[in-house]
Amino acid sequence: MSPVNPGPVTPQPPVLTDPEVADLVAQESRRRATTLQLIASETPASPAVRAALATELGTKYAEGYPGARYHGGCEVVDEIERLAIARTAATFGADYVNVQPLSGSIANLAVYAAFAQQGDPILALRLDQGGHQTHGSRANFSGRWFLPIHYGVRETTERIDYDALRELALVHRPRILVAGSTSYSRHIDIAALRSIADDAEAVLWVDAAHTAGLAAAGVAPSPVPHADVVTLATHKVLRGPRGGIILARADHHDVLQKAVHPFIQGGPSMNSIAAKAVCMREAGTPEFADYATTMVAAAARLAAELAERGLRIVTGGTDIHLAVVDVSGLGLTGVQASERLAAAGIVVDKAVLPFDTQPPAQGSAVRVGTSAAVLAGLGVDDMPAVAECIVAALRAAPDGDQHAGIRGQIAEMLAG
Ligand SMILES: *Cc1c(COP(=O)(O)O)cnc(C)c1O
Repeated sequence: MSPVNPGPVTPQPPVLTDPEVADLVAQESRRRATTLQLIASETPASPAVRAALATELGTKYAEGYPGARYHGGCEVVDEIERLAIARTAATFGADYVNVQPLSGSIANLAVYAAFAQQGDPILALRLDQGGHQTHGSRANFSGRWFLPIHYGVRETTERIDYDALRELALVHRPRILVAGSTSYSRHIDIAALRSIADDAEAVLWVDAAHTAGLAAAGVAPSPVPHADVVTLATHKVLRGPRGGIILARADHHDVLQKAVHPFIQGGPSMNSIAAKAVCMREAGTPEFADYATTMVAAAARLAAELAERGLRIVTGGTDIHLAVVDVSGLGLTGVQASERLAAAGIVVDKAVLPFDTQPPAQGSAVRVGTSAAVLAGLGVDDMPAVAECIVAALRAAPDGDQHAGIRGQIAEMLAG
């Protein structure tokens, strides 16, 4: 107990001492605790993930890969990255894993860098039918540097038209066939896409940003056995840190390693990689499987309860953790609907319908997801009450006082 000997290193939990930032963070915590988060891409990270993120690992420079770094002192972070890779490989049954991408979009950029040259044709789901901006939006590198060709859904079923997709693939011979979506609520038939990709001699890339957590939990089919390459976001259903991961067949190892570093990134974010390791361990627990099962059941129930109250659900329902709700029947745009819901303490994203008549910036739909609501303590049996609040908020006049009443009900529901 000598006062001059600091003793063994005991990590102190960091304290946010900056008063202005601390106050804003507290405000954000209050916002989250008192309003219902139905944004399908947001899930609060687990406490263990947050603890890993707050460590000093974030300031360690470690360009390169374990055992082959450009900086000294990497022996410990090498172990951390190896652990994250091994756990991810075990979770998904993948041969090749890269845990360094700083986000989902950056993982996607690495896939293009690995498999395509500028100007190559890329076949992906239309952006206004659920595709992501990295799947060929003109506003994104993918649309500027490559030649996007888009497949879509059938107008009658609002499900992917696999026959038309096959024809497009055989005519255009895309370098990459992309599957994956931000708002398509049905399982995608990856085996069918594999056979199309084989016939068109295309690389099959599954962007599983949203659904990877469901696959990890065994409540959605895994794309890994069929795809050449899979990208995922660790901050969505997986409850991990903000970041991306790439999974692939072993024979794509070299091109993907080089694509992430040095082609796109410098040093990786080692605190995030530690948090990814934590996340992958949690994703293998029975608790996570239960959570994912509840999330999917709650989304299906919410969709059914909304439909019962007169709202049309795109594709008639959902197989995953999100649903797209048509609000045009109420004479609202997606933006107006999301504003009314926000006034009532229900936080959603506006969305577009397949074949929407409104411009994309307005849309005629909202997207609702259950990953955060289930963590906030709501279960399948709470969904009728949630649906009731949603419908009441959408029907209430924007300048009346009904929204404040619903807001109170929501806060009570979350407190109880
Ligand atoms: C969320 C998402 C991504 C990744 O987005 P980032 O914000 O860059 O992490 C990529 N693809 C799809 C389909 C997504 O939904």
